[in-house]
Amino acid sequence: MTETSRKPDDGVFSDLILLTPGPLTTSLATKRAMLHDWGSRGQEMAAMTSRVREKLLNCVGAGQNYECVPIQGSGTYAIEAAIGCLVPRNGKLLIMINGAYGRRMASICDILGVDHTVDESPEEEAIKVEALHTRLQRDRAITDVAVVHCETTTGVLNPLAEICELVVARGKRLLIDAMSSFGALEINSAKIPFDALVAASGKCLEGVPGIAFVILRKDWLEKAGGSARSLSLDLYDQWRYMSQTGQWRFTPPTQVVAALDQALGELESEGGVVARGARYKRNCDVLISGMRALGFQTLLAENVQAPIIVTFSPPNQAKWRFEAFYNGLRRRNYEIYPGKLSKIESFRVGCIGNLGQAEIQGFLAAARETLDDMGFEAAAGTG
Ligand SMILES: *Cc1c(COP(=O)(O)O)cnc(C)c1O
Repeated sequence: MTETSRKPDDGVFSDLILLTPGPLTTSLATKRAMLHDWGSRGQEMAAMTSRVREKLLNCVGAGQNYECVPIQGSGTYAIEAAIGCLVPRNGKLLIMINGAYGRRMASICDILGVDHTVDESPEEEAIKVEALHTRLQRDRAITDVAVVHCETTTGVLNPLAEICELVVARGKRLLIDAMSSFGALEINSAKIPFDALVAASGKCLEGVPGIAFVILRKDWLEKAGGSARSLSLDLYDQWRYMSQTGQWRFTPPTQVVAALDQALGELESEGGVVARGARYKRNCDVLISGMRALGFQTLLAENVQAPIIVTFSPPNQAKWRFEAFYNGLRRRNYEIYPGKLSKIESFRVGCIGNLGQAEIQGFLAAARETLDDMGFEAAAGTG
């Protein structure tokens, strides 16, 4: 975390601390980077855009054979752009699903009329490589495979390296939704030779929301001309226009570009993806042990828990009122996220953003006070 994160007199001290999957708490310098107006066609915007694309490629150690194409919008826009432009008209996409974001990719295919098939497995478990193997064995029409790296629905981490190895060995292309892991969990294109990956500005990169991007093999992109199923989400056209003019095809989110430029600089000075991932892991460990001490249980087994967001279930299901807990925390300056599970009461707490252990400890103290207000008996061994 940078020095400039939060000081009592900086005017943003009263902002809520966001323990969510995004938008997230950003550094003061990142917020400040937005205090300008830029024209869309000026050289400042072109320089920032090109620097941002370069740094994003560096995050995955991508060489000359990869391109980074940013697109205006939230993460889903780039997922839709990638599916709509890259899966060939005569292709078939296999989506490995273990949560809501996998299901969203299937909805995109339904709407765009992209031929696809799904393999759905339980949300509290990681995707099984054997299941993928079976699907590829049985359905020879499959040309492409899509998978979510960290399923933010629960916080489960899917085995990306093994999945990629199998997909590559089978001669298929791999499309990764790395939205909630990019910038925090290492995805090195030399070790995980993916074909396309999608992420966005407002999650572990600690920028503000508004830009999503696809990092993909140049040869796949070059083949995508004229294949888009949408005008504004045409990756190929965006890339061609940007390469030729240095500008965005349509109005760029100028302040978001500036914030992302600053945030990517901060990622570098923090020590890169590995250092950021280590900070989040420490946040996550402090969060989980503190919450367990308060009587909460984690949904996931430790070996599949990503250090991004944690799903908890309350100490006493009958007595539990999420609204009361949520509001109590908000009054104390912390924002958490509701659960996405149908079967059990749950909620989620993120450990990402420009925060460290002090903020997590502060959250745990606020959670303790809120539970007291709600009439929960203090669990043993808390502090
Ligand atoms: C956040 C997220 C998305 C994109 O959601 P938006 O609301 O469109 O930004 C997609 N996939 C995963 C895994 C995510 O965490």
